Amino acid sequence: MKYVSTRGQMAPAGFSDVLLDGLAPDGGLVIPAEIPTISSEQREAWRTLSYPELAIEIISLYATDIPRADLEQIIRAAYSADRFAAPETVPVKKLDERISIVGLSEGPTMAFKDLAMQFLGEVMPYVLQQRGRTLNILGATSGDTGSAAEYAFRGKPNISVFMLSPQGRMSAIQRAQMYSLDDENIHNIAVEGNFDDCQNLVKELNNDAVFKANHSIGAVNSINFGRICAQIVYYFWAWLRATDSLPADAREATVTTAEREASLVSIAVPSGNFGNIFAGHLARQMGLPIHRLILATNENNVLDEFFRTGIYAPRSRENTLVTSSPSMDISKASNLERFVRELFGTDAEGFVQSWSKLDEDGSVDLTAHLSRFVEEYGIITDSSTHEDRVETIRTEFETSGVIVDPHTADGLTVARRHNEIHGRILVLETAKPEKFGETIEEALGEKTPALTPELEALLALPQHAVDMADSGEELRNYIAEHAPAQA
Ligand SMILES: *Cc1c(COP(=O)(O)O)cnc(C)c1O
Repeated sequence: MKYVSTRGQMAPAGFSDVLLDGLAPDGGLVIPAEIPTISSEQREAWRTLSYPELAIEIISLYATDIPRADLEQIIRAAYSADRFAAPETVPVKKLDERISIVGLSEGPTMAFKDLAMQFLGEVMPYVLQQRGRTLNILGATSGDTGSAAEYAFRGKPNISVFMLSPQGRMSAIQRAQMYSLDDENIHNIAVEGNFDDCQNLVKELNNDAVFKANHSIGAVNSINFGRICAQIVYYFWAWLRATDSLPADAREATVTTAEREASLVSIAVPSGNFGNIFAGHLARQMGLPIHRLILATNENNVLDEFFRTGIYAPRSRENTLVTSSPSMDISKASNLERFVRELFGTDAEGFVQSWSKLDEDGSVDLTAHLSRFVEEYGIITDSSTHEDRVETIRTEFETSGVIVDPHTADGLTVARRHNEIHGRILVLETAKPEKFGETIEEALGEKTPALTPELEALLALPQHAVDMADSGEELRNYIAEHAPAQA
C-alpha cells in the first residue's frame, strides 16, 4: 500500500513514512493510493475474531511495510486485556430495540482516542527503533488528545511528549489523568492562556524548520493516518456485533423489503475534526454495509452546514463557541480535505483548484456534489444544543439507567431525532461521563452517582505540570533543555 497527498505533489510513500511525518510536503494530507475492498465472505469470516485479531486483519491491509509477525506483536500489545476495562475491548450495548452504544471509552483515559493512540504508542517506537531515530511529540490539548497520547507513550524509549494545555481550563479528571503522570518522558506544560494560544505556540515551533529538524519535532494529531486506520477496526467490529444475532439470510438481497430494512445498521458519530467519521467512511468504502453514517455536531456546526448546503466555510476563532462537548469545539475540520479529495476522483486538478478557494475566499463551494453525500456516501448530518444534550442525558438515565457523556449525548440526540432511518443505529460513545462531571450534574442533579474509589484515588494523586507564559521563546528553551538536539 502506497500513500499519496490529497494535493498530488508527494512521491508515493509507505505506511511507516507517513506515520512519522504529519502533513504531506505539499501541505496536503496523506491518503491511501487505493482503498482495499473486503468481500462479504471475508467479512463473515472475521465474525469470530477477537478485537485484537480483527485489528490485525484490518491494519495489515494498510501497514503493508511492517512484517506481519511484528505487526501482530504490536497490535496484541496495544489492545492487551490489561489496558481496557471491558474484556471484549469494545462492548456493544443495547439501549433499546433501535439504538445501541458502542463502548469506545474503555481505555486508560476513558475516551475513544485511546483506541488509536494505543496503537501509535506501540507502532511508533517500533518504526523509530528500526530507523535509529528519536521523536519529540509536541502537541496542544483541551483534554482528551493530550491524555490519550501521554498514556500511550509513557515510558516508551526514543519518544518524549511535550503537551501544552491551557491553565485551569480542563475538567478535574482530565487534569488529574495528565498531571499525575511522573514518567520522565512526559512533559505537561500548563500555558497561561486558552487552547488557541497553546495551538499557536505549537504552530510557531512547527514553522521554525531549523528548530523542528534539530529537535526531531513530531505530532500525533487527528490527521495522522496511523490513527485513522486503527479507527476503521471498531466500525467493522461494531457492525459485526450488531448483526451477530441476525439470521445470515437477513443480510442477503433475497428477503422482503421490510425484513431488509429492519436489518440495516447505521452508525452515529459525535464529530469535530472529521477524524473518527472519516475512518467510518473508509470502512464503508471498503465494503462494510453501513446504511447511514450519521454525523453529529454540537453548536459548532460547520460540518453539519457543509453536508446540508455543499458550502464549506470554516469559522473564525471568535465565532467558535465554548460548549459542553468541548472536544468537538472546532472552527475547521482538519480531516475534511481527505473526503473532498475523494469527491473529485481522478480529477486531481479540479480538486486543487476548488480547494484553493478556501485560502482565497475563506470558503469552498461544492454544491455540485451535494446529492452524492447521501446517495453515494450515506452521510446525513445534524447538530445538538447544550439543552438537547442535557435533556438526552436525563431522559436516557430515567429510561435505561445508562449515563452518557455530553459528546455521546450529541450523537444520541441526533440518532433519536432521525426516526425516519430504518433499522438499528449504533451510537459511538466517545468518552465516559465521569470526564465531564459538571454537565452530568446539571442533567442528573442529586442522582449523579458518586465517583468510583479508583477515580477518587486518581484525583488525590500529586500533580505536576510546568507553568509557562504564552511564549515561544520559553517553550523552545524548555524543549532544548529536555530533548537535546540529535547528533
Ligand atoms: C476528539 C473527540 C471527538 C471528535 O472526534 P473527531 O475525530 O475530531 O471528529 C468527539 N468526542 C470526544 C469525547 C473526543 O475526545
